[in-house]
Amino acid sequence: MTVSDKQKIADFLDMTSDFLGSGYKSDKKEYVFEDDAVLTAREESIEQIAQEIKVCRRCPLWETRTNAAPGEGVLQPLVIVIGEGPGVDEDRQGRPFVGRAGQLLDKMLSSIGLSRNTNAFIANVVKCRPPFNRDPHPGETSACAAFLERQIILLKPKFILVAGRIASQTLLQTTESIGKLRGKFKELKIGNDVYPLICTYHPAALLRDEELKRPTWEDLKQLKSKLDEN
Ligand code: URA
Repeated sequence: MTVSDKQKIADFLDMTSDFLGSGYKSDKKEYVFEDDAVLTAREESIEQIAQEIKVCRRCPLWETRTNAAPGEGVLQPLVIVIGEGPGVDEDRQGRPFVGRAGQLLDKMLSSIGLSRNTNAFIANVVKCRPPFNRDPHPGETSACAAFLERQIILLKPKFILVAGRIASQTLLQTTESIGKLRGKFKELKIGNDVYPLICTYHPAALLRDEELKRPTWEDLKQLKSKLDEN
């Protein structure tokens, strides 16, 4: 189906573009679709990256993983969400953010109209579980960086939401605290492209400390208002 066919159907039905499986309807009722051929090529490339990740031995984490968790979501995401790395549940299932923190992340995203099933893609800075959930080492994040960059370049998100200190520091190449990094839009440059990015607390931190919920909500609201502007 061509872009203009999708456009016509969406206009006719006046439904959210989620109904058609991709794209996005903003409050201004503007639809932005990629052609099916573009999405098919993108799917093949995303799958190719996932296959490389599953057999990757670029850092020692392959030795202790059960499954790598390459990432999941739609092929035309408004937002890519980037976390730290798989935990025990993610390692078992080979999918990102499926444990308790993942369920909370899904609720956080849903509160601002985002979902991995309709308009978001979920990934991590490392795709294999660090043993005992320790922080990933710098050598591990840098060994994995090219996978994430390729995912971002292919998926061309409008925005990036970064969850937690490790992912924020890794992507922004800084040692500043998450308290300082969160809540302000920044730019992530990859090649010639620039992606607006906002950091917030990790959902696992919210499970430990309820007081982080309010500032996290403020950050999510900022993202939502940018999404509504676009
Ligand atoms: N925490 C993360 O940062 N990523 C996951 O995929 C799961 C938990």
